[in-house]
Amino acid sequence: MSKIIGSVCKLCRREHTKLFLKGSRCFTDKCSFDRRSYPPGQHGQSRMKFSEFALQLREKQKVRRYYGVFEKQFRKMFKIADGRKGETGFNLLQALELRLDSVVYNMGFAESRRQAKQLIAHKHFAVNGKRVSIPSMALKLGDVIEVLEKSTEKTPIMAGKELAKTREVPAWVEVDGNKGTIKDLPTREQISLQVEENMIVEYYSR
Ligand code: SF4
Repeated sequence: MSKIIGSVCKLCRREHTKLFLKGSRCFTDKCSFDRRSYPPGQHGQSRMKFSEFALQLREKQKVRRYYGVFEKQFRKMFKIADGRKGETGFNLLQALELRLDSVVYNMGFAESRRQAKQLIAHKHFAVNGKRVSIPSMALKLGDVIEVLEKSTEKTPIMAGKELAKTREVPAWVEVDGNKGTIKDLPTREQISLQVEENMIVEYYSR
């Protein structure tokens, strides 16, 4: 994710949706988007008309920021999704959900996807018994993700588990203590981000 100057909360306001970038704060009344849902900046509160291109761009940026993926990597994922059978937009969303950082967040081992990236980079997890450090690692059905024993008492991991008690953990993962399994592939209905993925397909098809 590119470096953000100032609060990441302005990204939620820019994309007009909650991107859940700040962990537990996103679920409290301190959430900036809940308090000021209009875009940041001088013209944030004025009514603006958007071109078709601008709308497509916003949908693409929304998804990219939600998952915290660089443009270059996002475009690469789009190309792979486009080459697969089925609907490109859904293929892309499913691949994003199956990134290791997203799965770690979904399993409740981190408070946010941003935090999950850091924890993975600091080698606190194993996949199928092997220690890993690449947040973008693509997971598949049946993969087992585990918090390494030395890391189970780490504050961010414990905070993530605490938060997971109050938010919905998707049905396609199964969590048992410090271990989680991908028991199904996520369906479109199970991907909670509100997005019109066809607009992303149109954006890259120009
Ligand atoms: Fe977005 Fe979370 Fe900030 Fe709310 S608290 S604006 S959801 S990052």
